[in-house]
Amino acid sequence: MSELRGLLAEVAARVADYRESVADGPVFPEETDIRDALGELPEHPRPAADVIGELAEAVAPALVATTGPRYFGFVTGGALDAATAADMLATGWDQSAFNVVTSPAAAIVEDVAGEWLKDVLRLPSTASFGFVTGGQGANTVCLAAARHHVLARAGWDVERRGLNGAPPLKVIASEERHATIDRSLRLLGLGTDAVTPVGADGQGAIDIDGLERTLDGPAIVCLQAGNVNSGAFDDFAAATEIAHRHGAWVHVDGAFGLWAAASPASRPLVAGVERADSWAVDGHKWLNVPYDSGYAFCAHPGSHAAAMSLTAAYLTGQGDGDVRAPSDFVPESSRRARGFATWAALGELGRAGIAELVERCCALARRFAEQLTKAGFTVVNDVVLNQILVSFGDETDRVVEAVQRSGECWMGTTTWHGRRLMRVSVSSWSTTEADVDRSVAAIQAAWASVASRG
Ligand SMILES: *Cc1c(COP(=O)(O)O)cnc(C)c1O
Repeated sequence: MSELRGLLAEVAARVADYRESVADGPVFPEETDIRDALGELPEHPRPAADVIGELAEAVAPALVATTGPRYFGFVTGGALDAATAADMLATGWDQSAFNVVTSPAAAIVEDVAGEWLKDVLRLPSTASFGFVTGGQGANTVCLAAARHHVLARAGWDVERRGLNGAPPLKVIASEERHATIDRSLRLLGLGTDAVTPVGADGQGAIDIDGLERTLDGPAIVCLQAGNVNSGAFDDFAAATEIAHRHGAWVHVDGAFGLWAAASPASRPLVAGVERADSWAVDGHKWLNVPYDSGYAFCAHPGSHAAAMSLTAAYLTGQGDGDVRAPSDFVPESSRRARGFATWAALGELGRAGIAELVERCCALARRFAEQLTKAGFTVVNDVVLNQILVSFGDETDRVVEAVQRSGECWMGTTTWHGRRLMRVSVSSWSTTEADVDRSVAAIQAAWASVASRG
């Protein structure tokens, strides 16, 4: 075996060992300071196998089992087998997904996978798309397209003239919007003061009357498919009708919640969402693609490309005739071939498998809520999707810390509607009923230990 072959076989074995045993170890490790083990910058070249051996040994104690079945923090999906392997191939092939000239393979796979995604998510077949780094990247790209579109209609070419002297542009968003919306607005030069916040209802969905009252000129309306705390959905049919009546652009942050469209059971939650102007979705959350995967969709391909393309060449057709240049729809030029992992995830699950993944996670979330309620704890949200918010009164932080320390499972905290809460998100293909039951037991044990310490 050549040295390279041996090295890559060894790495594949390490990945397989890790993934096959990830359910057995602690979900969050105890000792995580690996700095010393990483050593000093070497003076001289060393064999690749030695370097990789050292790296793997050094970081092992600080790895978090996010790809395992009992990680319920943030909104964190595991990574599917085919998607993981495809991402390893993407690394090995080292393709630049700039356009069809740098890599026909990368460009065409993104093209095909993007069409599949629109199909599964039930977005308009004419929508443009960009494969980005995640939900943050997708929100930024979509809001850049929105900024172009709304200002162009007001007679202002923002790509050429920038924002100095531009007509005022209002951004209307729920006070419960995801924090990434604000960062996107900062990066786009609109600034967070551009936001006119609208209140939310008891479950965290935008107040439709409040939305209507704020509309009075060029505006971008940001809606949410899946409130990051409660999982609540805005009323897309009503909100898009009102916003469009006032000439506003409607952007939907659907990082994880837009996947509700993939299952007939949860599809009513996103009724009307296809009428929006742009949509941000994550691949690395609920689709269970490895990290560095999100999608920006836009109902106005011209505005999308105008905001993002490297040059104006997209207007005349760049590259090889009908293959789109992926980089004209994202902020990067030379970029990772993100399409392979997405294509593989969609290919591994198929339409039915994606629906089943969404339904299973929702059913497990309901099981969590039922069992926690039965155990005497307070679930404070309507569990409409995969998110559960639990109150332990004044002890919430201490209970969550004890759960995290147990290594049995991992969930974080949040503050929502003035209360400290445990936030549980079920987003992994590998989570089973037994994992939920074991996690509920860990929560009960944590509660008991906190209560006994008084
Ligand atoms: C996670 C999330 C984001 C940000 O996505 P990243 O992939 O972390 O960049 C944006 N909006 C919502 C609702 C999210 O849940």
